[in-house]
Amino acid sequence: MSDCLFCKIVAGQIPATKVREDEHTVAFRDINAQAPTHVLVIPKRHVPAFGALTAEDGPLLAHMANAVNAVAEAEGVAGTGFRVVCNNGAHAGQTVDHMHWHVLGGRNLGWPPG
Ligand code: 5GP
Ligand code: ZN
Repeated sequence: MSDCLFCKIVAGQIPATKVREDEHTVAFRDINAQAPTHVLVIPKRHVPAFGALTAEDGPLLAHMANAVNAVAEAEGVAGTGFRVVCNNGAHAGQTVDHMHWHVLGGRNLGWPPG
């Protein structure tokens, strides 16, 4: 999508601190980090939201999960614990309409979320 912020990050048209990239996913640091580790994992393909996923996206989801675990390992939070968050839609606070999974760690995270 030409006007999508995260598609532009995938394409390198907008700078981001990328920490990992593979054939299907990109991971980069959130510009407004909420924890010592706050990385966004996104599909390279424009998927607007978690709610747009179907069973046909199974392979993509496997790559997303693999990317999350690789990021957690590289960030040193795989052992201490981390949280994966995907805000879907208005009430969840989704602000960028290109699906992204927040990977948060490096401190004790409160529960329940706000
Ligand atoms: P959401 O609120 O949609 O779940 O998460 C969007 C996230 O994207 C926010 O945490 C916000 O800080 C992050 N974000 C928004 N614009 C940019 C940007 O241009 N670069 C980076 N790295 N993160 C961004
Ligand atoms: Zn996009």
